[in-house]
Amino acid sequence: MDCGGKGFSEVIKVALTHDVDRIDKIYQYLQYPLTSLLRGNFGRAWYHLSTVSKWKTVYWNFEKLTELEDKYGVRSTFFYLIETIPFDLFKPSEWNLALGRYDIRDKRILTAIETLKKGGWEIGLHGSYNSYKDLNLLKWEKKTLEEAAGLEVTGIRQHYLNMNNDTWQIQKDAGFLYDTTLGYNNTIGFMDGKVAPFSPFNDHFVEFPMTMMDFCFNAEKDKWKLTEKITSQAEENDGIIVLNWHPDNLDEGDFPGFFRDYENLIQFYKEKGARFDTLKNYYAELKTSKI
Ligand SMILES: [Zn+2]
Repeated sequence: MDCGGKGFSEVIKVALTHDVDRIDKIYQYLQYPLTSLLRGNFGRAWYHLSTVSKWKTVYWNFEKLTELEDKYGVRSTFFYLIETIPFDLFKPSEWNLALGRYDIRDKRILTAIETLKKGGWEIGLHGSYNSYKDLNLLKWEKKTLEEAAGLEVTGIRQHYLNMNNDTWQIQKDAGFLYDTTLGYNNTIGFMDGKVAPFSPFNDHFVEFPMTMMDFCFNAEKDKWKLTEKITSQAEENDGIIVLNWHPDNLDEGDFPGFFRDYENLIQFYKEKGARFDTLKNYYAELKTSKI
């Protein structure tokens, strides 16, 4: 399938997405004060210690997000993570991954998924840290999410944007129809000049390049100038602007400005008359217009 070009309308296209990395703030109440103290930032250390009672809500911004999207009449894709890396005292580099994980069968998650399903949102898989190179693991994660959510999952983004030369093949063999991992984790824009969605194997499997993430956008000095440039690139090359805002990064105290950035971007694109849709719907349209 040759994606992009004729048949895919010229209006600016936006896809909103959320990688659900974690739902509770736990070990961070030890880690963040310590790292703040090591940097000599006593105020920040105190902030984290003084907000311990918010541990169950600070990363849980599900209602905040769905209410905002409802307000603008837009829908998004939530990519859920099924991480299985065990905690190993002697592997400190994996502590973040092992301790931060949640259970996909957690009642709060299942209730949230029901709300998303009923309201027209999309559910995708956030492939675990090692699944980008492990077909059996990825197949198991897809099946586990599908059983928990009670629907078929066709889209994926890999955790930490991990990829190697085999990842797309592995995702395709696991039964995914599209991936949206290709993108930067230190700036915003289209990686490797890839603007329009494309098919790496010239078949049904599609890559939607990820265009901007919350913390990269927030840290960018010329964010709006760059956003204008990115938007023109997308308009000229039939691209889709794919935003990735993590639900656990939206508390104003922990992540100042992140939620505001997200709303500002939605407003920015609304004012430009952009189309907002889920990647699943864009995929369906690409497929029917091209085959
Ligand atoms: Zn992630």
